[in-house]
Amino acid sequence: MMRFTADMRSQAKSLALVPTMGALHEGHLSLIRRAKQECNVAVVSIFVNPTQFGPTEDLARYPRSPEKDLALLESLDVEAVFAPCSREIYPPDCTTFVDPGHIATVFEGALRPGHFRGVATVVLKLFNIVSPDMAFFGQKDFQQTVVIRRLVEDLNFPVRIALCPIVREADGLAKSSRNVYLNAEDRKAALVISRSLKRAEEMTQAGEGNTEKLLEEMRKTFDAEPRAQLDYAAIVNPTTLEPVAQVMPGLVALVAARLGTVRLIDNLIFGPPGSTPEQRLQLALATQPIDLEFTALSPLGERVDRNRRFLQPGRAGPTPAEGEPASRRQYRLRPAGG
Ligand code: AMP
Repeated sequence: MMRFTADMRSQAKSLALVPTMGALHEGHLSLIRRAKQECNVAVVSIFVNPTQFGPTEDLARYPRSPEKDLALLESLDVEAVFAPCSREIYPPDCTTFVDPGHIATVFEGALRPGHFRGVATVVLKLFNIVSPDMAFFGQKDFQQTVVIRRLVEDLNFPVRIALCPIVREADGLAKSSRNVYLNAEDRKAALVISRSLKRAEEMTQAGEGNTEKLLEEMRKTFDAEPRAQLDYAAIVNPTTLEPVAQVMPGLVALVAARLGTVRLIDNLIFGPPGSTPEQRLQLALATQPIDLEFTALSPLGERVDRNRRFLQPGRAGPTPAEGEPASRRQYRLRPAGG
């Protein structure tokens, strides 16, 4: 894999990484299509990462469909698939892990201790192996995107993180590899998750801004569906994950619930009426209290981003050292015309 990526780099190709655990569905494919649009070469990793599963979780029975996955990836013209075995990623003598700190101890982290330590470790290892210019993650796992963005920022990793909106089934259930575990009744009952988020959205659009009232309504929606047990519902700042009292565009509602033994998560980014999922994601990213810097996609310099911002060379951030490759120069995300 490292030879392949070095070879691509020597040909000045931009490289995208899409980390997955396989059992690919339309949610994964949306990330891969976007990766193909934004970079010359797309690498998809398939690795069911043992360190992000707790001892009582579903590692052994996690759905696996390698042949179907490969056929799908071929049909999307993905340039490379990286599907290592466990011992390649975690040799028996390895002892080093990444601790993402406080952000990994709330919500999913509180219910799945060690989960984000496993996620951060495997993602950093994949970044080191593939050295991508960009890596693509789904909004579906919102807290994971926060952990990864922090990881890249805190450890100064030169990769640009792109987030893609949630892909849903026609009836609103967020696509997930774990949906196949649901029996017919629980599949129907699972709609309470997206329904509760939709309810909160409707209330904000009718003028309700108090998050406690929104959460009360979400909990009521769950109370009406006895097959579902709510693990948590919260409305938080999209960078710090701290609960907020008043709703605002860019804030995110997080939900986790169990249907029998199946745990599902979902979320909603609040936005102005009629705003697209992409626009909402950009609002959530813009809510960051810190000014992030990104490594440019290509050595070509200025590039119009989807949200009509520019990646502008040399306007801010450190001046690139003489002789430093252009692809490693720092660029700062700035509003158009700013
Ligand atoms: P997983 O294979 O579940 O680890 O997911 C791999 C990547 O696909 C992660 O970045 C997920 O957030 C993303 N993903 C999973 N489900 C969806 C979905 N329904 N919509 C968009 N992205 C998704």
